[in-house]
Amino acid sequence: MEKTAFVTGASRGIGLAAARRLAGEGMAVAIQYHTSRDTAEAAAAALRQQGCRAAAVQADVRDRASVTAAIRQAEALLGPVEVLVNNAGVARQEQFQDITDESWREMFAVHVDGAFYAIQAVLPHMLHVKRGAIVNLSSIWGLRGASCEVAYAASKAAVIGLTRSLAAELAPSGIRVNCVAPGVIATDMTAPLGRETLAALAEETPMGRLGRPEDVAAAVAFLASDSAGFITGQVLTADGGFSL
Ligand code: NAP
Repeated sequence: MEKTAFVTGASRGIGLAAARRLAGEGMAVAIQYHTSRDTAEAAAAALRQQGCRAAAVQADVRDRASVTAAIRQAEALLGPVEVLVNNAGVARQEQFQDITDESWREMFAVHVDGAFYAIQAVLPHMLHVKRGAIVNLSSIWGLRGASCEVAYAASKAAVIGLTRSLAAELAPSGIRVNCVAPGVIATDMTAPLGRETLAALAEETPMGRLGRPEDVAAAVAFLASDSAGFITGQVLTADGGFSL
């Protein structure tokens, strides 16, 4: 039976690649966007043209009412969500002393509150049918820490804590919760680092290149699939060997 996947932050980058990949594997996909309406609508239309079921839905994941409404909208269009990918993200480089309350709160609101709200919105159905897969996007910086990205790294570490704890709680209900921790991936998020820094980071990566959104999407799709049916509470790193 066709599953419905809800992917947050799917208007661009890793989320868009994940939505396309899950659609390619036969799922109906909800492409959640925040501000990039045109690209999200175009991506959903392109998937529909290929014969997939897809819809673009707007939400600000920092707002419980907004993300819950988007999930209900997706369910009305595509069916109950059985795969949730918490991918929406923001990043900012700043020294610890310069982090404002707003900046700190935003990192936790998008990455941690957003996942919390989305998971609570999809759980009643998953608990009812005793199946479901949740994949959260963390980061290698959430595992190892990152200078000048303390708020980002701390929020991504919190995503790992959420993943492992919830995995233990939901395993008896047949629901799996896992994490993907990407390395340096070529998206809008890393573009501000500039060409020189990105080239240096590619050189520092044992595989000799930056990651592509599709590299991470493959890891997301695996953890979302029935092939990963006995895998829960794990953090799968997709970083070309960067953190080795
Ligand atoms: P990206 O290209 O910058 O895209 C970010 C996405 O998040 C966009 O779709 C954006 O929506 C959405 N978003 C931002 N704030 C939101 C909000 N308040 N509510 C709802 N959606 C919101 O990012 P990316 O590089 O693909 O990263 C995707 C995920 O992977 C993030 O969680 C990121 O932390 C993680 N990650 C990325 C890297 C990397 O190197 N790129 C490395 C490790 C981890 P709109 O465009 O519609 O506004």
